Amino acid sequence: MSEGAHPPVCDYEGSDYQQQFWEQGDRAYEDRVEAIALRRLLPAGEGRLLEVGAGAGRNTVRYRGYSQIVLLDYSRTQLEQAQARLGTGERYLYVLGDVYQLPFAPGIFEAATMIRVIHHLVDPPKGLRQVRATLAAGGTFILEYANKQNMKAILRWAFRRQAWSPWTREPVEFAPLNFDFHPGAMKTWVRAAGFRVERQLTVSHYRLPLLKRWIPLRILVALDAAAQLTGNWWQLSPSVFLRAQATGATEPAPGGAFWRCPACGSYDLESGPDGVRCRSCGRLWELRDGIYDFKTPRQVP
Ligand SMILES: [Zn+2]
Repeated sequence: MSEGAHPPVCDYEGSDYQQQFWEQGDRAYEDRVEAIALRRLLPAGEGRLLEVGAGAGRNTVRYRGYSQIVLLDYSRTQLEQAQARLGTGERYLYVLGDVYQLPFAPGIFEAATMIRVIHHLVDPPKGLRQVRATLAAGGTFILEYANKQNMKAILRWAFRRQAWSPWTREPVEFAPLNFDFHPGAMKTWVRAAGFRVERQLTVSHYRLPLLKRWIPLRILVALDAAAQLTGNWWQLSPSVFLRAQATGATEPAPGGAFWRCPACGSYDLESGPDGVRCRSCGRLWELRDGIYDFKTPRQVP
């Protein structure tokens, strides 16, 4: 796919995903084991962190030490829920935008996270390149992806209950705009985007309703926490976390720019009370109710 073509995007607009999936969906196990993986991979940091696909801010409170966290999501309703949870203080910046056209100048973030997001991307390498561009040299990137080579898929395939092979490198679209990836293919893309993979944790090994029903939560969580540590050697869990470091140089934008116009690519933007105006193309990216909208410009030249 060329850099110009825009792949379809999975939109959570108007969704009560946080409530349905996380709060009423019996996902306490998944949430707890993710928190453990994040604590292991991302120690307290400093500077600015970009959370790509922040949703309702479930993980945001887990990013310790950073002076500013930028929550980016494709859906306004998700960001509104995050804002209700985290407040409107200086530490959080809410940005409506598109992972394929991030509205940030190069190198302005010390860290970035992308959790439960890349499985919605038709073009993961393109999204990864965008994230890399926003990171300073040596910056930290935490990525979570859905793994097609998980034990359940391997068994189903072995017993002829599943048509696709877990061993081949192409992604499998198990539902519209929901992809499972091959761990080797994902590592290749991450490296090609300008990262060095430092550590992997396998997560959610016991994501089976039967186990969740019969084994007490704290025991299941402890078992998963132990199994996570084999993640560098083999990846057979449905979810994999990896920590990568941005390699190579990052050329900063002139004049210490923060924003990048997603429409024309200019760094010459001016912030005002009603939003950010691009001096090159004239578009106004509106600030409304504390959320910057980099999806729909208010004024098109
Ligand atoms: Zn512009």
